[in-house]
Amino acid sequence: MSEPIQIVIEKCVRCGACVKVCPFGAIEQAERKALPVIDLTKCTLCGACVAACKFDAILMKEKAAATIDLASFKDVWVFAEQHDGAIQSITYELLGEGRKLADALGMKLCAVLLGHGITAKTSELTSRGADTVYVVDRPELVHFQDESYAAVLIELVKRHKPNVFLTGATTIGRSLVSRVAVKVNAGLTADCTGLAIDPETKNLLQTRPAFGGNIMATIITPNARPQMSTVRHKVMKEAEVTAGRTGTVVVETVAEAILKARAKRLRFEPEHETTMNIAEANIIVSGGRGLQKPENFTLLRELAEVLGAGVGSSRAAVDANWIPYSHQVGQTGKTVCPKIYIACGISGQIQHLAGMSASNIIVAINKDPDAPIFKVATYGIVGDLFTVVPKLTQEFRKMLGK
Ligand SMILES: Cc1cc2nc3c(=O)[nH]c(=O)nc-3n(C[C@H](O)[C@H](O)[C@H](O)COP(=O)(O)OP(=O)(O)OC[C@H]3O[C@@H](n4cnc5c(N)ncnc54)[C@H](O)[C@@H]3O)c2cc1C
Repeated sequence: MSEPIQIVIEKCVRCGACVKVCPFGAIEQAERKALPVIDLTKCTLCGACVAACKFDAILMKEKAAATIDLASFKDVWVFAEQHDGAIQSITYELLGEGRKLADALGMKLCAVLLGHGITAKTSELTSRGADTVYVVDRPELVHFQDESYAAVLIELVKRHKPNVFLTGATTIGRSLVSRVAVKVNAGLTADCTGLAIDPETKNLLQTRPAFGGNIMATIITPNARPQMSTVRHKVMKEAEVTAGRTGTVVVETVAEAILKARAKRLRFEPEHETTMNIAEANIIVSGGRGLQKPENFTLLRELAEVLGAGVGSSRAAVDANWIPYSHQVGQTGKTVCPKIYIACGISGQIQHLAGMSASNIIVAINKDPDAPIFKVATYGIVGDLFTVVPKLTQEFRKMLGK
């Protein structure tokens, strides 16, 4: 069999079932009852046609498994995200979870730290459980750049062959590891909320919400290594600091050529906010079209300030220019997982739910008792947000003595 997938002419009854199931439009039949033809430039070898063919008329080569020596991939890696030299809390969450995985596999837990003047920061990683820290300390890496950071990680993955590679599902993490996964021919499961090791196969079980949070899907990558996942912020517990704990620090060198990036960072424009960043917040007060105009977000900011919360929004509010995009929660915005999410004047369309339905407690305030948001809400308040929100602010202010 020369092609990775092919149709067995003798067995094919030309029923067209394979054409219908192919999600990529990669199989064509010139006319009814003609022999189907697979376009290999479109085919992703997903196997949907193989499963749909009742006549075993489609043969597919076993993917990569035969060519990869899975046993040669060792250790659990965590990408240590840093901003201006400060290790981000998501890294500690990944170290906490990574420790459990490494112990279950009988492998080492390693962190990868890229930046400039950051070698001293390795102790923060070893004290939280990393056995080895791979550091690339170069002026070109002082600020995150997709191209150079991805190139360095690709080089390190090829050099050390990690078994598992975890990254935060942050703006940086998502942009970075997708590039790495493609180049090292690995799978990537985005936005995981649960990770475990299958005791029998030793495969990584990567659990994430699917279909807008309606089901939890557990995904495995049995034929490729490393097993790569991005992990949602605020879902896993941070690894504790063990005073005096040390590990091995490996300073890696990389070729000048791979540090070159076509994009150049000119400056950083911080957003001036009086409330917390929603990616870090334990409580989020979020507003939608029900707020009617931008000035009314002040009501939410007041409540957020009393609660020490961040302010989120639906896309409708962002599209109307009431609040910047960085506050948008949902499918095309941020995925958040706070302890408490208070949705004010948000209907709860599936695209919004996709970004917040994993929150521990959801409080919905909406004047429409049939609004879909009430289906996912832990507590629902049917009422006018312009009456309810100021009352909540007033009561919390009293209770919290603010
Ligand atoms: C490809 C795609 C991606 C998308 N991505 C996102 C995304 O990332 N995030 C997102 O949010 N949306 C996203 N959307 C849009 C989404 O489909 C909805 O249009 C949007 O979420 C609606 O926002 P909303 O709930 O604020 O507005 P509406 O649906 O108009 O709801 C407003 C709600 O406010 C209530 N209300 C009105 N006045 C009051 C009041 N005085 N007191 C109390 N309640 C009141 C109403 O009863 C209503 O339920 C996306 C859509 C598409 C097609």
